[in-house]
Amino acid sequence: MASRAELKVIVIGAGPAGVRAAQALVAAGLRPVVVDEGRRDGGQIYRRQPEGFTRSYETLYGTEAARAAALHRDFDALRAQIDYLPDTLVWNVTPNTVHLASGACYRELAFDALIVCSGATDRLMPVPGWHLAGAYSLGGAQVALKSQGCAIGARTVMMGTGPLLYLVAAQYVKAGATVSAVLDTSTFGQRVRALPDLLQMPATLRKGFALLRVLREAGVPVHRGVTPLAIEGTAEHGVTSVRAKLADGRELRVECDAVALGYHLRSETQIADLAGCAFQFDPAARQWLPEIDQDGRSSAAGVYLAGDGARVRGADAAERAGRLAALAALQDLGAVANTTPDAQAETARLRGELARYTRFARGLRNAFPWPAQFAAALPDHTVVCRCEAITAGELRRVVHETGATEANRAKAFSRVGMGRCQGRFCAHAGAEVIAAEARVPLEQVGRLRGQAPVKPLTMALSASADDRAETHAAHNARCAKEYSE
Ligand SMILES: Cc1cc2nc3c(=O)[nH]c(=O)nc-3n(C[C@H](O)[C@H](O)[C@H](O)COP(=O)(O)OP(=O)(O)OC[C@H]3O[C@@H](n4cnc5c(N)ncnc54)[C@H](O)[C@@H]3O)c2cc1C
Repeated sequence: MASRAELKVIVIGAGPAGVRAAQALVAAGLRPVVVDEGRRDGGQIYRRQPEGFTRSYETLYGTEAARAAALHRDFDALRAQIDYLPDTLVWNVTPNTVHLASGACYRELAFDALIVCSGATDRLMPVPGWHLAGAYSLGGAQVALKSQGCAIGARTVMMGTGPLLYLVAAQYVKAGATVSAVLDTSTFGQRVRALPDLLQMPATLRKGFALLRVLREAGVPVHRGVTPLAIEGTAEHGVTSVRAKLADGRELRVECDAVALGYHLRSETQIADLAGCAFQFDPAARQWLPEIDQDGRSSAAGVYLAGDGARVRGADAAERAGRLAALAALQDLGAVANTTPDAQAETARLRGELARYTRFARGLRNAFPWPAQFAAALPDHTVVCRCEAITAGELRRVVHETGATEANRAKAFSRVGMGRCQGRFCAHAGAEVIAAEARVPLEQVGRLRGQAPVKPLTMALSASADDRAETHAAHNARCAKEYSE
């Protein structure tokens, strides 16, 4: 049996879930490896600004400043007791091994336990014109602001639904940017019906109302129950306006030079997929999610899933889920006993708190539902897969001509989901288009299998002429040295 110090535990992600997982492992006497493709820790919500930028916590994180500061402080305190690999992508997982890439350096690391805290990204529904320059995801628009202090345009329209829609719009307003309109596809009635679940977190609900107040005071037009019709513009000039049908049937055109688009979030599940975790279809969310028990154990031995990458429940829940997953891993590795009254009480408390966040997340999902019905109505010329420039019409033709209604077969025939993003941004909508066209339940379409690499990799071993003379052996030795420093 390995001693605690010898146990190899790898945490993927240095966001709220990953940091709390690492903290629990260190407290138990382990020295985990923490890998994150970002240059700095903090994850999505508490993304740290680049070195040398000096905006205050209040400016960057608003009402979440104290939480961001606490997470950063705690991670800094861990640095001497973990092996932190920033700027490093986990591009594949094979049995008990993760495959890493950092620049042109590649490396493999073995693990006894793997805690995947890979977070979420925007869930996107296509609209004609969303491939034009100037159309971003809401998350992308926020990253530009948080990381670089930039707005995506001089006059931005925020369109879609979900908490991020109002949050990013308010953040833009506070930063002095012009938000020309907020176009929300969800309705007031949906929000009212979701209230019992949303009242699980009254403080968070109040923050939502505060965002609406910011928009109202800035005079930003907010329309609910809209149907997006098109993002208009030209290949040369990019986005020039947005067209939408309002709830009362009137058509609205808003002039703008940028659009931020998103329909809440989707879990980043490719790593879990490559690690061999079983998935189940969640009919309410209309998506496939990895199976986990209440502490984050997946169906694959030694693989634990926590945070938004497993279930989108927000940052506070991610911190708790990260800790719970680490405690589960420690228990399974025999590194801690979960039988003391204190340990049992903590586990019970964390599970109870997570249950409340789960209910609140259900409320958000019902208040800001994924507009599956839009997929069936997409005009044939709408690009569905932006990487491969495949339209809804081409995908529908594949369904008719080949009879391919299973996601992976339809991908093989149409190339939807075969490009750079590996389906991360088009797979959900693509599956909806297939299901609507073939008139089969979405579940029957299945899901795209995870493929390595999860993101594009550098093919060249090295860039400079001197480096090109480097042998593979020398290259590997240099990478190993760089990693160990
Ligand atoms: C774009 C975006 C913006 C958001 N903004 C807000 C906000 O302002 N307020 C709010 O309350 N909530 C926000 N959310 C939701 C919030 O970020 C999450 O609830 C919270 O951050 C979840 O924490 P986490 O640790 O699960 O994941 P994250 O914080 O997302 O952290 C995941 C980490 O894993 C890393 N990672 C993922 N895959 C790999 C890989 N293959 N290899 C290496 N590293 C990897 C990522 O770089 C990231 O740092 C946002 C979500 C997104 C997607």
